[in-house]
Amino acid sequence: MDALPRTTVVGIVGAGTMGAGIAQVAAQAGHTVLLHDAQSGAAEAAVARVAATLSKLVERGKLSVDECAATTARLRAVAAIEGLAPAGLVVEAIVERVDAKRALFERLERIVGEQAILASNTSSLSITALAATLAHPRRFAGLHFFNPAPIMRLVEVVSGLATPPDLAAVLAETVRAWGKEPVHARSTPGFIVNRCARPFYGEALRIVQEGGADPATVDAIMRDAGGFRMGPFELMDLIGHDVNFEVTRSMHASSYGDPRYLPSVLQQDLVAAGRLGRKSGRGFYDYADGAERPAPATAAPAPRPRRVTVVGSLGPAEALVELVERSGVTVDRAAGEGMFDVDGVTVALSDGRTATERKWAESSKSSRLGHSSFREITVFDIALDFAQAKRIAITASDQASPRALEAATGFFQALGKEVSIVGDLPGLVVLRTVSLLVNEAADAVQQGVCSARDLDTAMQSGVNYPCGPLAWADALGLPFVLAVAENIARSYGEDRYRPSFLLRRRVQARLPFREDLDT
Ligand code: NAD
Repeated sequence: MDALPRTTVVGIVGAGTMGAGIAQVAAQAGHTVLLHDAQSGAAEAAVARVAATLSKLVERGKLSVDECAATTARLRAVAAIEGLAPAGLVVEAIVERVDAKRALFERLERIVGEQAILASNTSSLSITALAATLAHPRRFAGLHFFNPAPIMRLVEVVSGLATPPDLAAVLAETVRAWGKEPVHARSTPGFIVNRCARPFYGEALRIVQEGGADPATVDAIMRDAGGFRMGPFELMDLIGHDVNFEVTRSMHASSYGDPRYLPSVLQQDLVAAGRLGRKSGRGFYDYADGAERPAPATAAPAPRPRRVTVVGSLGPAEALVELVERSGVTVDRAAGEGMFDVDGVTVALSDGRTATERKWAESSKSSRLGHSSFREITVFDIALDFAQAKRIAITASDQASPRALEAATGFFQALGKEVSIVGDLPGLVVLRTVSLLVNEAADAVQQGVCSARDLDTAMQSGVNYPCGPLAWADALGLPFVLAVAENIARSYGEDRYRPSFLLRRRVQARLPFREDLDT
């Protein structure tokens, strides 16, 4: 399918943040763009704003003077909506209300030509519902740009029940010609990104609510070990808690109360207090001049281990073995279940169970075998890349002595890592978040919301994840990820944590996501 030709006039309705941004993108791609807003003067102001942005790009050497002049000349404000008659594509970016959007599209249908395509930039409304009152619903689709539209590459091309595949293909090729990265999504609550990113915020909020760690520590772990560009709390502060809370509420309501999307009372309190994040000067962090950022919990230096035994295979943490060998610590090898024995203390990768559950399981096994076990158990979190990670989160069972955490701390410090000691919650921080991101992603693919490849593309381009969730699952090994998901579900006993059926089926079929991601 071909992109719409550059000669197609693009209409934009709603000249706010998104409308102005999309107008800039289309005009820079060579289209004549007609911008309309219900509020008088708003479209002119948006054209002036875009012209100022383009001039800044010229000053920074990112755009030539000629391109700037030609782009600005292609942008026109139209006072009456009838002025959009020549448009072959109209993108709507008005207030997020079904009634307002439906009324607008019904009116637009009577103004534009029969072949014109109508698209909505809605973040949360059903494309099927918006198309329902149109005379020609087959000309309608979602075109979900991300903020700021000129910078963010991802565009979700959203198909409602009536959207023909050809129309979605034309729109995808058109935005690709505009320099964007299109992904196809079926119109379901949250589309791809707003749905599949929920665990990133939701689990962080629960970890803090359950006393596992404070926001600054969770953020540092997610950045330094998880490889995320921003931690969940700093990102929520940037997005705005009113916006982020509303997206979660809308996901929860539109899924008839699925506990996976249960909004957090912690975030509700921030909204009620007017602590909306950066824009109000305070959210989880204080943005007042001179306010100090709280430091993440970082363990004090602990003694270097005297002797480390690598017991069995460490699975997804195998990369640590090389680091241990290079650290100068005396290393032995032994057969057995994967773990490090650090001066008699178990230092094991989390498998989704709490350290206390593992200790209890070990003790029951030992007593069945007729000998008592006094091993101290500590558990550590995953890292995106153990060699690069600056920080590792660790925890210990409730009965552990301070010596156990000291041994594990000294062990990771000897590998050059900072250590954050967190509460004994299932899956710690990165592993818990990643396993739930994978779970949500797998369910979205199973439900036909999008392809595995588009899912990973969307999460990398739309929210800057360091790795697509499904590629990450493959790298960790699907049996490991499923075991983690099952253990977290067992620990909490809540439907919120139910493992994805597709994940289980892929494990049974020994079918990683890799093949779908490559095609
Ligand atoms: P905004 O408030 O900045 O702008 C909306 C504009 O639409 C205003 O200028 C308003 O005067 C105008 N408007 C309202 N009703 C109108 C009507 N009936 N006819 C013509 N103009 C009308 O809003 P925004 O942030 O640009 O969001 C617009 C749309 O984009 C919403 O559907 C929103 O969900 C979606 N969206 C927003 C973001 C974001 O981060 N802001 C990201 C993706 C999608």
